[in-house]
Amino acid sequence: MRLFKRKKSGGADTSSLHNEKQKADIIINSIDDGVVLVDKKNIVNMFNPAATKITGWTKEESLGLDFRSILRFVDEKGQPINDDQNAVCVVLQSGESLRDDDAILVKKDNKQLYVDISVSPMHDSKGELLGAAAIIRDVESQRREAKQHADFISTASHEMRTPVAAIEGYLALALNEKVSKIDSNARSYLEKAHSSTSHLGKLFQDLLTSSKAEDGRLTSHPEVVEMGDFIEKLVDDLRFSAENKGLRLELLVGSGRDAESSAIDVNKKIIRPLLYAYVDPDRLREAITNLFDNAVKYTESGKISVGITGDKSVVQFHISDTGAGISKADIPHLFQKFYRIDNTSTRTIGGTGLGLFICKKIIELYNGQIWVDSEEGKGSTFYINLPRLDSSKAAVKEEN
Ligand code: ADP
Repeated sequence: MRLFKRKKSGGADTSSLHNEKQKADIIINSIDDGVVLVDKKNIVNMFNPAATKITGWTKEESLGLDFRSILRFVDEKGQPINDDQNAVCVVLQSGESLRDDDAILVKKDNKQLYVDISVSPMHDSKGELLGAAAIIRDVESQRREAKQHADFISTASHEMRTPVAAIEGYLALALNEKVSKIDSNARSYLEKAHSSTSHLGKLFQDLLTSSKAEDGRLTSHPEVVEMGDFIEKLVDDLRFSAENKGLRLELLVGSGRDAESSAIDVNKKIIRPLLYAYVDPDRLREAITNLFDNAVKYTESGKISVGITGDKSVVQFHISDTGAGISKADIPHLFQKFYRIDNTSTRTIGGTGLGLFICKKIIELYNGQIWVDSEEGKGSTFYINLPRLDSSKAAVKEEN
């Protein structure tokens, strides 16, 4: 049986609902979400009782003040956030609704509280922006639970990874002809055990990485990286796995989102624009390697192409294959945790269903986007967009 919490206050006497304003007041005063209305000049002009409960500031203290002295937000490190990351300021600037599911509010007593904040612009009948309405929800307990859950998964996978790595090592020794003498039956059993153990090791590693990605503990040391150089080296390292399966591999550099990015062949020397981005090269390598490994895994014959191109503001990678392709129904779920397409080709191919989820989390670390274009039977193309740094910004960042 579901139990509902009885609310101590806010019971509405419906017989007294005389007009729309009164109904709206009753709703706003009785809901659990904080409601704060802010005008164009950032001044608070409505503050409901739930907002007082969440922030610690009373209505009397808040009305007439700049909302930023009441709704103070900080980042994960406790540093105050700038106006350009403050959902209310952004809505007052852009006039478009915004939601921040990861906000941390500093209450009046300076304690921090996890909140979701959803901000909508308010317009008059002529469409003129009057201000913004912020709905603030206390999600402290949900976030704590999610954190405990993630902590459990990451501790468990960390603890289990170590003995699994030891078993994998010993099985490899048993299979090494220089070290062990075994008959062909034993070899075939041990090979199966070795392959299952390495699958388990990969699963624990992926679980660990995905739980870190979810609660923002994924380490990242971004630096200025020239993406053309980066991808050339990476494709060189990955070449073997494609060619080993008889797949052709091509690297397309600067084959144009616009004229600026086109490769020009002068005396057989490729001149291409320098495409800088601010990323952790190890993390980006992890993401692109995973897309490449998938392309190899899910392609029986044909070709894999890796491409890089860009325009003024974006560096774009693509990884295309001539493999099985992905159905329209599966595409929206592809980047979800543990999502694996269930068909005859994938059933026989090992995987954890965590790779694309991790890729997405990594690309989002650098404010990028990842998506796929695919058709069943015709192959797939995965795209990554990263913000491009122009050369002068790249030089400044590199100096710092
Ligand atoms: P997995 O470990 O199963 O490969 P991923 O998260 O990397 O997990 O991929 C999720 C699913 O997406 C895969 O199980 C597969 O069905 C599908 N998929 C990913 N990449 C491709 C591709 N290049 N071609 C066809 N299907 C793909």
